[in-house]
Amino acid sequence: MAAARKSRRQVLAGGAGIAAAAAWPRALRAQAALHVVIVGGGFAGASCARALHAADQRLAITLVEARRTYTAPPLSNGIFGGVRDLAQQQFSYDKIAAAGITVANTTATAVDAQARMVALSSGDKLTYDRLVLAPGIDLRFDAVSGYSEAVSAQLPHAWTTDGAQIELLHRQIEAMDDGGLVAVVAPVNPARCPPGPYERASMIAHYLKTKKPRSKVVILDAKDTFTMQQLFLNAWKELYPDILEWKSLSSGGNVASIDAKNKTIETDFDNYRFAVANVIPPQRAGKITTLAGVADRTGWCPVDPVTFESLQQKNIHIIGDAAIAGAMPKSAFAAAVEGKLCAAGIVSLLAGTAPAAPKLTSNCYSVIAPGYAISIANVYRPVNGIYNEVEGAGGVSPLNAPASFRADEAKSADAWFRTTTAEIFG
Ligand SMILES: Cc1cc2nc3c(=O)[nH]c(=O)nc-3n(C[C@H](O)[C@H](O)[C@H](O)COP(=O)(O)OP(=O)(O)OC[C@H]3O[C@@H](n4cnc5c(N)ncnc54)[C@H](O)[C@@H]3O)c2cc1C
Repeated sequence: MAAARKSRRQVLAGGAGIAAAAAWPRALRAQAALHVVIVGGGFAGASCARALHAADQRLAITLVEARRTYTAPPLSNGIFGGVRDLAQQQFSYDKIAAAGITVANTTATAVDAQARMVALSSGDKLTYDRLVLAPGIDLRFDAVSGYSEAVSAQLPHAWTTDGAQIELLHRQIEAMDDGGLVAVVAPVNPARCPPGPYERASMIAHYLKTKKPRSKVVILDAKDTFTMQQLFLNAWKELYPDILEWKSLSSGGNVASIDAKNKTIETDFDNYRFAVANVIPPQRAGKITTLAGVADRTGWCPVDPVTFESLQQKNIHIIGDAAIAGAMPKSAFAAAVEGKLCAAGIVSLLAGTAPAAPKLTSNCYSVIAPGYAISIANVYRPVNGIYNEVEGAGGVSPLNAPASFRADEAKSADAWFRTTTAEIFG
């Protein structure tokens, strides 16, 4: 917040650690420091801030983040399985600020792309040389009949970085009577973390199996197929045969309406009476992207795949879940890598050099039970302006793997989370 109250001159001068400006073009060397503003301090934005700071200490960097504490979604489904605590998911911005990045704890409310200015809810304005938008997703509450932001206080989505939503769903599952039904409503794609709803249902099933064995969980799905489907189906048959049921779109999974008061969900074929409902609505890029004019009719943001610069507005870059990154999944793994690539792109653009075309890896784990995880890995590269999978470079976990293999993948998931969050927030 302190940075937001400074004048532009102060912001530009502050925290820049100005060194010899050898790589910048002559016209830019006259300036005290170039200012990069980043909106959103999640896996994408915070990773970008760190990478920019590491790449060029002369830059003044302001990270605008609405929340004081970041609640990381990866592995958070373990909370519903009773194997993780919320505290393990939460990180402060203290170390990022201590590293010399200005952290403004406030919400960005408008962007003037012509004036290169961001307005903040505090009333302050920040001018920028380059703006990075990394706001994650907004939930399309109005897409599910009977659901709304107000109803989410009763029927949580637990799908954003709002820790209170995760706590609420956890409390409800713990408080329900044995014999009740937990309904998980899964959205259409594109959406954040494609395997996430199925991982969540698995962890809830693990909890029910061990603590409330007469209870059940049903996934009401707006889709007919999902990522790593056969691996999930096999695991459910083995681990949760009478507890977890998946209703695909064509077997009646599509939710027609939700009645929060009477605790019922009407689908195309059936009515479900639930004890707990976890409703994950369809999604779009965070609102600031619409306000900045960088989201298209799909609700997501088209970008240049090398620099992540908007195809709709100059000097604005979009990374993480909000961006259209072709075949790349909307994952924390991808978001953190995109943050680094975007930083490299910005440094090149500011220096007037051509950014190198990147190759990008992604590896997503899903934990189905304690000590039992599966994963999907891929390598991507830009082809005709969009990220495509590099053929033969990726793959999913084998269908018939021994328990030790699944256990190793669970350890890898844990190690990835610890390493990445330490690199960004530590
Ligand atoms: C249950 C679940 C499990 C998941 N598991 C995995 C996994 O195992 N592996 C994996 O790779 N991915 C996983 N994901 C996906 C991953 O969490 C997201 O892809 C990732 O968080 C995207 O990062 P981001 O930085 O784009 O957005 P976010 O992490 O959502 O961060 C965006 C930040 O921007 C802030 N913000 C938004 N608008 C503004 C504004 N106007 N002003 C100021 N601040 C603003 C928000 O407060 C937020 O902190 C999971 C997701 C869920 C929900």
